[in-house]
Amino acid sequence: MTSKLKIDNYRCIICDGNRFKEFFNLEKISKKPYRVIKCSNCNMISIYPIPSKNFIQRHYNNPLYPKSAYFRNMTINFKGSPEAKLFLKGLNLIEKFYPNKGKILDVGCSSGVFLNMAKDRGWETLGIDVSKDFVNYAKKNFKLDVRYGFLKDFSFKENSFDVVTLWDLIEHTREPKELLKEVCRILKPEGIVLILTPDQNSLIKKTTNLSYKLSFGRWKTPVNVVYDIHHLCYFSKKNLTMLLNKIGFKTVYVGKEETILDRIVGEESDHWIKKKKFVVFALRLIFFIAKLTGKQNKLLILSRK
Ligand SMILES: [Zn+2]
Repeated sequence: MTSKLKIDNYRCIICDGNRFKEFFNLEKISKKPYRVIKCSNCNMISIYPIPSKNFIQRHYNNPLYPKSAYFRNMTINFKGSPEAKLFLKGLNLIEKFYPNKGKILDVGCSSGVFLNMAKDRGWETLGIDVSKDFVNYAKKNFKLDVRYGFLKDFSFKENSFDVVTLWDLIEHTREPKELLKEVCRILKPEGIVLILTPDQNSLIKKTTNLSYKLSFGRWKTPVNVVYDIHHLCYFSKKNLTMLLNKIGFKTVYVGKEETILDRIVGEESDHWIKKKKFVVFALRLIFFIAKLTGKQNKLLILSRK
């Protein structure tokens, strides 16, 4: 599965290393012109080449994107949903480490459910997103201050936010290190960043990699599902906390969460994988074992500036 790869003028997004191994060639797997590469120094996994900003903007502004059944709980009827429970947990953690409620910025806020919950608890809120439809939804339905654009576009004043949240966001960014540096700049001293992102050391990632290897590259479906090209970088606890540390953060909480599986394979899902009954069975089994063994597929990290 892994072979040495020489890429000119390309540096690891975390450690600046320039030696990589090819993890997967997506050209062979899903006919997409990308590779999944692994840094030989820090084990960071990323998509190469990094898709253009235009490609990313087009994806999130496809009219079908916010309408996907994947987001069906991210509406004004969010109460009682698994998403709302996760956001509540996040808010409780934030308030544990930052008891004086102040100004919170949610980067990639989608429809505004999290910000609405934060506002109800007394936080001053601001959201940004690169999906125009989501921005309009949050404004219209939750009456939130939500703006369209990438974080860099806004040039917020330094030391201006108490908390910045990145729910399922960092893996979608082209320059995660630059993003975290900007978050650090705009956070007040002692401010908190919350990050939720897939964990490269999860059971689902390990079994996907292994199934591909053991089938000599014939079983492509799991790789196709798990290595989505809209996820541009794949962190582990080790290299994400290392990156945060390098930028000037001190990690105060690391926990495990999991993808809400019903969003993908539940009754109302419109995901193509739902029709592959064996894959759905295997996914549910792996998620069950992952929960028992603490190898769930997402990392929830809070770090202090
Ligand atoms: Zn590296």
